[in-house]
Amino acid sequence: MNDDETLREVAESPLTLPPVETAAIVTAVLVGIAAGAIGIALGRRSLERRVRTLEVSVARSTDALARRERSSEDERAVQDLILGSMQEGVLLFDGKGETAFSNAALGRHLGSTPTGVGHLYPPALREAIRGVAEHGIPATIELERDDPIRWLRAAAVPAGEDGSILLVVTDITETRRVEAVRRDFVANASHELKTPAASIRAAAETLASVAEGDPQAVPRFASQLEREAMRLSRIVADLLDLSRLESGSELGETVHLDAMAREETERFEEAAREGGRAIRVRTTDPATVSGSGRDISLMIRNLIDNALRYTQPGGHIELAVETHGDVVELSVSDDGIGIPIRDLPRVFERFYRVDRARSRETGGTGLGLSIVRHVAENHGGTVQVESELGAGSTFTVRLPAAETPARPVTGRTIDAQNGASPALRSPETAGR
Ligand code: ADP
Repeated sequence: MNDDETLREVAESPLTLPPVETAAIVTAVLVGIAAGAIGIALGRRSLERRVRTLEVSVARSTDALARRERSSEDERAVQDLILGSMQEGVLLFDGKGETAFSNAALGRHLGSTPTGVGHLYPPALREAIRGVAEHGIPATIELERDDPIRWLRAAAVPAGEDGSILLVVTDITETRRVEAVRRDFVANASHELKTPAASIRAAAETLASVAEGDPQAVPRFASQLEREAMRLSRIVADLLDLSRLESGSELGETVHLDAMAREETERFEEAAREGGRAIRVRTTDPATVSGSGRDISLMIRNLIDNALRYTQPGGHIELAVETHGDVVELSVSDDGIGIPIRDLPRVFERFYRVDRARSRETGGTGLGLSIVRHVAENHGGTVQVESELGAGSTFTVRLPAAETPARPVTGRTIDAQNGASPALRSPETAGR
């Protein structure tokens, strides 16, 4: 049989396979299908895995985005909080000169918030900003605003390539006031010290020249020398006390105000008698405050000293210590010359005197009541004056009682009032 015949035979013969081979094929097909199915299954699972991974990373990104949004919101809230609570006014002009940002303090300082450089007020500030925009160099100017009068310092700096400008406005009114007070104080203190110093020099020169020619004049010049030297040292002592008190009193000691008032009254009794004045003290219950014994006795001494110096011979001085709830009250009253109503609010100022000559003559420094006020305030208390010209004065110091935690007594620190001194008008003391 040739090859063609063989081929035809194979082609025409029915396809019959032995059972073993059939099973093998069927198995192979099934395996194939299964493999396909597994393959598909495996493909879907990896797809699912990938989808899930994708989902997770999307969720993570969303989370991160939300976190970032939250954190930028937080940052913005923190920024707003900081800028909003700042004392300095902050304003950002964009490149077109329009307001891009401003905080609350800026509106307070300038009176309103401008919408752009063109609406800035006062004009000097507008010019300064234009100058910064033109030259790109920071500028600082000081301005005065009225109603109410405020001093402002405005600093403008270029803030970026686009021509933005940042303006920071600071209220320097208080700084200026403190500077002025300090300047006045130095000028006043120098003046007060210069006068006795010049007198001492003059008296010493005269003393030297009269010592030989006019020996009888020596005691007169010597006592002038002594008087002026004492005045000088009193001013220096008061200035030192004042400067110490300005940094506070050393609190914590238990001070028996009633006993202290009695002691100080006793200390002045002789001087009062010699000057023809009567001094007495009235204390009821024990009155205790927590503070500095040294400073409180300094305060009482200054009040008694004033009462004696501004009361004519024949006059009366009375100290009273009383406790009213959690407040201890010390008053020093006299029936002396009194204080004119217009001067009442100023008597606690350093170097303020109603009658400069009288104060000097009686050995005053102009610092006594300032010392009194500092001691009262250092102890969380207040001092108040009531006076009537020609009728007398009452100085009342109110301090927190020792048992209660030191807290400010209600009311103004200095409450100057006009009216006769009540203690001396009371039936107990009237008609002396
Ligand atoms: P000074 O050393 O001049 O007395 P103070 O500071 O103690 O200074 O008092 C300021 C001014 O207050 C005094 O110069 C005086 O004019 C007035 N003054 C103080 N205490 C009395 C008082 N008890 N009676 C009348 N005037 C007083």
